Amino acid sequence: MTTAQGKVCLVGAGPGDPDLLTLRGQQLLKQADVVFYDYLVNPLALRHVDSAAELVCLGSHTQGRMLEQVEINAEVIAAAQAGKQVVRLKGGDPAVFGRVAEEIAALEQVGIAYEVVPGVTTALAASSHAGIPLTHRDVASSVALVTGQECRGKQGPALDLENLARFPGTLVFYMGVTTAPVWSTELIAHGKPGATPVAVVRHCSRPSQQTYVTSLQELPRLLEREKIRPPAIIIVGDVVHARAAVNEFTSRPLFGQTVLVTRAAHQSAGLMLRLSALGAAALAQPAIETGPPASLAPLDAALHALAGYDWLVFSSANGVHFFFQRLRQLGYDLRQLGTCRLATMGPATTAALADYHLHPDVQPAAYRAEALAAELVAAAAGKRVLLLRASRGREVLADTLSAAGIAVEQVVTYASRDVEQAAAEIRAALVAGEIDWITVTSSAIARSLVRMFGQQLTQARLAAISPLTAGVLAEAGYPPAVTADEYTTTGLVQAVVEARGG
Ligand code: SAH
Repeated sequence: MTTAQGKVCLVGAGPGDPDLLTLRGQQLLKQADVVFYDYLVNPLALRHVDSAAELVCLGSHTQGRMLEQVEINAEVIAAAQAGKQVVRLKGGDPAVFGRVAEEIAALEQVGIAYEVVPGVTTALAASSHAGIPLTHRDVASSVALVTGQECRGKQGPALDLENLARFPGTLVFYMGVTTAPVWSTELIAHGKPGATPVAVVRHCSRPSQQTYVTSLQELPRLLEREKIRPPAIIIVGDVVHARAAVNEFTSRPLFGQTVLVTRAAHQSAGLMLRLSALGAAALAQPAIETGPPASLAPLDAALHALAGYDWLVFSSANGVHFFFQRLRQLGYDLRQLGTCRLATMGPATTAALADYHLHPDVQPAAYRAEALAAELVAAAAGKRVLLLRASRGREVLADTLSAAGIAVEQVVTYASRDVEQAAAEIRAALVAGEIDWITVTSSAIARSLVRMFGQQLTQARLAAISPLTAGVLAEAGYPPAVTADEYTTTGLVQAVVEARGG
């Protein structure tokens, strides 16, 4: 008996901006059993990967040593031979200085199926993110992608710099930072004018992007003076003069800001992507995690008897998803809700209901328990109300409804727990002052963050989603720098943008 073999997909992740992944790349990441990714790949690209899949980071400095190409090939092949769908996620385009041919040869040798998915190579993101077009009707009708790596040999550069000096177009050097003194001097020696404009784009399309403009003869001095380290591409040619006057990417309102997202892991991607689209570097450190309640019996009893309630009240998007997941597990469908009326706490909960084609009868104008209670006291007088809630949370809704003589039952749909430990690298970044903002999207998260970071919270600015959350922070001694006017993640992002003067 032979087991079915897996397939290896060599996928380009693009230059860093997580939105520059192709649709095919996204689809393959979703289907993958294991993903081997280069450490330079933006972790946000990995949000497409199934939570059950295995993630293997290659070539991280923190791993102590870089894996050799043969070791990578062996690991990739072993995974595919074990029947797994493997994605090999590479920065930029897999075939531009990405060793794609070597990896394919290794796969063909052992007869493993493969697919290559292109990515946006770094040089192409120079136009979108650094405002530098690689070609221009008036000054450059061709482009050469060049590796500076070939200048390392003891016998002098293997690159044909004599011909490159005569190349009638734009030269883009990859891996060329450390070897720039060699190749720039050679280009000039072979006749390329020393005054040729040069742009160095470091961390292209990332929130840490920096662009330096100089001339070919000044390039080595610039690199040394500014202590420029890889990864950077170096663009040589008159197109550098055609640079856009205003850089759209670096003018984004949160460009250069590092923002920590602290929601439960499965909920953080949406907020991180919005921050990232505004130019920020979004990091994740979940402060809470959610899971099924300690006992499902009360929820199950309520689900069997839903017809006995007039109103179902959802206090969070999580509550909605856990509720309907359990409804389905019990073999019911939406008809079990009968004519129950529905209420939500705010737009996120309402959006979660929309996933099930449901629309709430009540969503309060202000997104807080007091406002919802006031509306329900009027709307649900004399009715039977079921509150679907987290294992912890405020009692104000139940108390207010009971006090108004409404028959209220509460059922826990999911458990919310504190995450005990922060990731070492996140704590280190915070202590080093590398995190500008921490988003605090609920009172439970606020309390957990205080426990997790304590005094270290003063190293960043806190952004609270509502006055209630702000109050929890202030009471603990860490008043937030901003509080959202609208109590949603959109309102929160808006508050951070306004604080930046955006
Ligand atoms: N396959 C990749 C290139 C890999 S070679 C691609 O298509 O882009 C590695 C080199 O790529 C780095 O030395 C650097 O020159 C360049 N590079 C990769 N990511 C970069 C980035 N975000 N900004 C600037 N240069 C980058």
